[in-house]
Amino acid sequence: MGVHTGRHRGPRAADPAPADTEPGEFRYCPEELRTTYHAIHDDGSRTCWTCRTTTPAGETQ
Ligand SMILES: [Zn+2]
Repeated sequence: MGVHTGRHRGPRAADPAPADTEPGEFRYCPEELRTTYHAIHDDGSRTCWTCRTTTPAGETQ
């Protein structure tokens, strides 16, 4: 895993969604009142990628 040849990338390139985290989707963020990328957790809750707000499962999408 993680074989990078380093083309056009620094050693610490900041990927928006590292492979080791939960899968994510674009969902509505109630804090920012806009659609942002969220990490989707196993229990159905989701965490906003930009403001880190966690919305419990079952909230409006
Ligand atoms: Zn947010």
